[in-house]
Amino acid sequence: NMESKLQLLRKHVRTFPDFPKPGIQFRDICPILKSPPALTAAIDLFEEQVRTIHPQVDLIVGLDARGFLFGPLLAQRLEIGFVPVRKRGKLPGTTVTAAYDLEYGKAELEIQEDAVSPAQKVVLIDDLLATGGTLCAACELLLRLKAQVLGCLVLIELKDLRGAERLKPHTVFSLLQY
Ligand code: AMP
Repeated sequence: NMESKLQLLRKHVRTFPDFPKPGIQFRDICPILKSPPALTAAIDLFEEQVRTIHPQVDLIVGLDARGFLFGPLLAQRLEIGFVPVRKRGKLPGTTVTAAYDLEYGKAELEIQEDAVSPAQKVVLIDDLLATGGTLCAACELLLRLKAQVLGCLVLIELKDLRGAERLKPHTVFSLLQY
């Protein structure tokens, strides 16, 4: 059931204090990838959420880089396509770009202009929601392509950073909260 899947997932998240810099508690999802039952549990829970709340979804959009580890598996389960949002400079052809703030400085995300058609319904996925800056920038890209963002999915939400507030009016569904 759902509770036992969540418990299994929680057991497969490792916390590293002071990585990549002092004061950051890094939540490492690599043990989930290494455990077939844990990875299956994660995709099961995401699948159930999307089938229940967003049955009309057309595409899963995954964020560079750890959104790529879960997004294609979920899309395959749902029998729909997957589209990557990448860091700037990686995608060929015509792209649209959105800048966002990092703790120090700025970064840019990119999507191929023809990756999503106007009015297509998308669900975004990443491994972790911290401040929400990354998912906000990705939502902005999709709005520029006139896609309809149904919602966002993450394995882990860092509640204290209030990323869900920042993402409004978009909704976020998280499997684990810290
Ligand atoms: P943010 O834009 O602040 O929501 O940051 C989210 C992105 O940074 C995600 O793609 C995460 O992979 C990564 N990230 C931020 N904080 C952490 C953390 N404490 N542990 C692991 N990854 C993190």
